[in-house]
Amino acid sequence: MGNSQGIRNGETMSITAANTYVDWQTQAWMTDGLCAGRSDLFFAPFAERPEARVRRESKAKGLCESCASTVECKAYARDNRELGYWGAESESERATAGFAPTTPIIGRRQVAAKRAAAALAEAS
Ligand code: SF4
Repeated sequence: MGNSQGIRNGETMSITAANTYVDWQTQAWMTDGLCAGRSDLFFAPFAERPEARVRRESKAKGLCESCASTVECKAYARDNRELGYWGAESESERATAGFAPTTPIIGRRQVAAKRAAAALAEAS
């Protein structure tokens, strides 16, 4: 591809952003997020049952739909192939749109454990 943009499902995405991890602490829009302290709603616990996922993601969607950062959040999650629920979009919906997570399945438990530990540290 000769330019700096990629196109998936009618949406453009910076190739640089797709291939470069962005430090989440530098994202100003995150400070306005309504999900602060609610990692339990936005990231699946290990071996989550499908029915529980539907209930959890429904609650997460309710927060996202009231959040001022939805557009930026959704774009960030797509560009960084994030796990979890971001910008009113589930991991499955993001994958269907062409932005599947790049984290190998075997690494997901470790990612979930690290995020849970970070959430616990933040809460204490
Ligand atoms: S759109 Fe949803 S996931 Fe994104 S910052 Fe807002 S509440 Fe959090």
